[in-house]
Amino acid sequence: MGAADAVAAPAGVRLAFATHNAHKVGEVWAILEPLVPSLTGAQIADAGSLGAPAPVEDGVTFEDNALIKARALCALTGLPAIADDSGIAVGVLGGAPGVFSARWAGSHGDDAANLQLLLDQLADVPDGHRDAAFVCAAALVTPQGSEYVEVGRMPGRVTREPAGGGGFGYDPIFVADGFEVTTAELSPEQKNQISHRGAAFRALAQHLAAELAR
Ligand code: IMP
Repeated sequence: MGAADAVAAPAGVRLAFATHNAHKVGEVWAILEPLVPSLTGAQIADAGSLGAPAPVEDGVTFEDNALIKARALCALTGLPAIADDSGIAVGVLGGAPGVFSARWAGSHGDDAANLQLLLDQLADVPDGHRDAAFVCAAALVTPQGSEYVEVGRMPGRVTREPAGGGGFGYDPIFVADGFEVTTAELSPEQKNQISHRGAAFRALAQHLAAELAR
């Protein structure tokens, strides 16, 4: 990538987040801010608001794709960059949709179509065999060349019908272990406490705190 492609972040921005998903920005910020003292009062910019293009996610693991996104945004902005890659892994499907979760029905980010296709594929699967997990890899890449990746999981099962208006993606058809309602029926705070993304970013927070304090 040439210098001409660089993206200038507004003054005061200490961290860039490689996502174009506004929902994730709020979710991740709420997780990190209490754990990373130097982020208090600091600005964080997401790839969408910076106008940074999304790199091709051609990794075959969540860790690969999270690093691809964080490396690209760090190179583009010159700022420490965080990224995540996540999805739902269904037991009877051998871990699919996995890294293909966002484009399972063909077009990237069509949540309604992705969710419906997964329900159709599991239509004949009995209740006792619908186990699944949301998985998230969270990455941090710094301009000094440090790289970190942490993985979080939220085990549960796939329901037969969508329920709930919160969350995004497959939330309306996923019930986490220990719960009776879908993750789309939980408050954002409840979901953050148990979520794959919460676990991954809480683990990443220690690296972020150390790197930003340098
Ligand atoms: P990513 O943005 O490339 O990480 O793609 C993640 C995809 O996995 C999303 O489009 C959703 O379909 C699914 N996904 C990841 N995390 C969640 C979650 O917390 N709830 C529901 N769906 C999720």
